Amino acid sequence: MKTELIFLGAPASGKGTHTERLVKDLNLPHIDTGSMLRAAVAKGTEAGKRAGSFMEKGQLVPIDVVASIIKDRLHEDDCKNGFILDGYPRSIEQAEILDEILEDINKGQDVKLLVIDIDVDEKLLIERIVNRRSCPKCKKIYNLKFVAPKKEGICDVCGAELVQRSDDTEEVASKRLDTYNTQTAPLVDFYEKKGLLRVVDGNRGIEEIYSSIKEQIKQG
Ligand code: AMP
Repeated sequence: MKTELIFLGAPASGKGTHTERLVKDLNLPHIDTGSMLRAAVAKGTEAGKRAGSFMEKGQLVPIDVVASIIKDRLHEDDCKNGFILDGYPRSIEQAEILDEILEDINKGQDVKLLVIDIDVDEKLLIERIVNRRSCPKCKKIYNLKFVAPKKEGICDVCGAELVQRSDDTEEVASKRLDTYNTQTAPLVDFYEKKGLLRVVDGNRGIEEIYSSIKEQIKQG
């Protein structure tokens, strides 16, 4: 059976941390539109040129830019047993586009499709965002307050110098949270009505959250 997981959750709710572990445990590809867009910006592709200014302001990039990126990616061969979607969809319109893509790629197949919402109190989110650092090489995510690297500024795993995302400042973070609340949060109802939503309390320790996520996936 194919396993298709969609992660909802505000910026810094822990989607990246948990999906990174799930990728190894479930052997499924991690499809993270934020990272794909940052790579497009860094490479200076057409999509990257259109996306950059929206990302800097904490807004969603235009729907057609993301739609074509996600459509191409979900048609790739490594998605044939399923995937873990992180950061898409982020609006009802995007979810409707995703429904069409899934209808096409899942034709006649047995699929377990779940939407996991990591729910975190808003006051915790900004604190997590401004303290977030990541490794540009192995992508491991740290938090200076909650999950600090052993040596300041250096990745425990591969020794590379940690970086802070340019949109992880307090100002852009609060805009990203507004964008989430107005455009993405309505997806909770959208998927609940379809019977696909599973809510996980993200205000706990990493291990507890991860085991709840695994349990939800197991139950289906
Ligand atoms: P993230 O890494 O998921 O926090 O995404 C960083 C930024 O990329 C967001 O603030 C948006 O500007 C853009 N982005 C990522 N995914 C999407 C999406 N599905 N639709 C529109 N914009 C997106």
